[in-house]
Amino acid sequence: MSKPKPKSIALIAHDLKKKILATWVFNNQTKLKRHKIFATATTGGIIQERCPQLQINVTKSGPLGGDQQIGAMIAEEQIDLLIFFTDPLSPHPHDVDVKALSRLAVVYDVPMACSGATADLIAASGYLD
Ligand code: PGA
Repeated sequence: MSKPKPKSIALIAHDLKKKILATWVFNNQTKLKRHKIFATATTGGIIQERCPQLQINVTKSGPLGGDQQIGAMIAEEQIDLLIFFTDPLSPHPHDVDVKALSRLAVVYDVPMACSGATADLIAASGYLD
């Protein structure tokens, strides 16, 4: 049986959640390594440091348009999964972009995990296998 096509996965985390996302990626890298990974610049850099063997395609930093770049990819139906660890307890200068990105994920019915518990459920679901 041939392997299913690799998925395109977008990874983003707000500042206080970046280490948590990097740990989640580290713990799931066996599942993630056959997929195409995209990340906003700072998140991608931290994940890359933690998981040097993963190939990560970075967009601009979130506040500089990276969230919108990922949103555009969702609108082009190029993203299969969005892991977006948001920080609901801190203010963000690009809050409108965060909202727009979450909205597009719902519009295009892209699976989206905003915290570790949901990301773990997706990883355990077989969606990445
Ligand atoms: P960053 O962007 O990975 O470049 O920090 C994430 C965000 O805050 O949207």
